[in-house]
Formats: sequence, C-alpha cells, structure tokens
Amino acid sequence: MSIASEISRIQNELKPFPTRLIVVTKTRSIAQLLETHATGVLDFGENRVQEMVEKHAQLPAEIRWHQIGHLQTNKVKYIAPFIHLIHSVDSLKLLAEINTQAKKNNRIINCLLQMYIAQEESKFGLDKQELIDLLNDPSLPGLTHIRIIGLMGMASFTSDQAQITREFSSLQAIFQHLKMEKLGESTGLVSWDELSMGMSGDYMLAAEHGSSLVRVGSAIFGERN
Ligand SMILES: *Cc1c(COP(=O)(O)O)cnc(C)c1O
Repeated sequence: MSIASEISRIQNELKPFPTRLIVVTKTRSIAQLLETHATGVLDFGENRVQEMVEKHAQLPAEIRWHQIGHLQTNKVKYIAPFIHLIHSVDSLKLLAEINTQAKKNNRIINCLLQMYIAQEESKFGLDKQELIDLLNDPSLPGLTHIRIIGLMGMASFTSDQAQITREFSSLQAIFQHLKMEKLGESTGLVSWDELSMGMSGDYMLAAEHGSSLVRVGSAIFGERN
C-alpha cells in the first residue's frame, strides 16, 4: 500500500467526524515526508526536537509542525521559531519557557495540556487536580505569548478496547467540563477548541469520543524499526 492510499483511506474513515489527521512522521525518511506532503497533508507530528529541526530545514515552509512527544525545557528554543502546536505541555515551568522563547521570536505559540489518562507508569501528563491548579495559577495571565487551546492524551498501550474506551471517555468528559465552565478563559489565553487523542490502533474510537486531532504514524507507513 502506498502512503497516499493509506492517507486517503484514513481521511475517508474520518469524514463523518470533525476530526483532522496529523501524520506522525517520526523516524520516517525525507523522501517519505515529501511523499506525504504531495498528498496535500500539511500537519506533521514529530516527537524528537532534533529530528524535527532537521526535517523542518529540508521541507516546504507551509508544513505545520506538531510537537507530540515529551518536551524538555532546555529544547524549547530550537522549535520556538516555527512550531505550530505543542501537544505535550505538562507543567507550568515548561509553559513559562515556551512563553519566553515565543516572545524572543515575536510570536504566539499554541499549546495543548497533556493529561494522564493511561493506567501505565511511563506516560507523562497532568491529573485533573494538577490541570485545575495550573489553570488557576496567578502567573498564568502573565504568559502573554502562549495560548492554551485544548488537551492531549494517550490511552494505555493495550488491545483491550473497553479500557481504551474508558480512557477516551474520561478525557472527553474533562474536556467538555472545561469547555462548559470556560475554565481559564478569563485570562484571554485559554480556549477549549482542540482535543488531541487517538493513534494508529484507536483513531476511530477517539473520533467517536470527540477527538479533533488524531496522530497517526504506523497505520500509514508501517511499523517503525
Ligand atoms: C508515535 C506517536 C504517535 C503515533 O503512533 P502510531 O502508533 O505510529 O500511530 C502518536 N502520538 C504520540 C505522542 C506518539 O509519540
């Protein structure tokens, strides 16, 4: 199967939903990224800063780069000039550094807060109380060069569909609560527009649970080495 046919198959499956596809290009070659770009897809997801920076330099400027993996504070400066959306914000300290680097680059950087929804030790993210504390922190209104535009989450790495469904439902419920209560919106820096959840094995389930952005790699390119 070609990259183009896999992308169009997934886009067709997502058509009934207001869900957009981010193609996860980590570990893939420049040739594969160019082939992806040729299909008309402009949203590319990477999880390593250095790899993203190198690819960004070699690909068309219109591509929208999404940081989907854990982001270390000391690496923000490398992606700040061009990053479209950072999905993996899990602390106020990281948000403050993104603000500093965005300001230096004279731009505003959109962010998602990463929520911990999996039943696994290894996943990053905030729990509900940490999320509320972050949104109520007195320093947040000063971070004028960031915008929080939604939430991101990763389900457990399992084939148990019922468990994945529970985890997606819990994130959807949190998202809907924030949206209804307009939490943080009085700062002028927060809007609850995007819910980033769903990967190759569970993107349809995610779409059915209100995901606005699915992050799909191996269903398009095959397994990673
Ligand atoms: C790698 C990765 C994906 C895509 O995973 P696939 O199973 O290849 O679709 C999605 N989200 C994050 C955060 C990732 O690191």
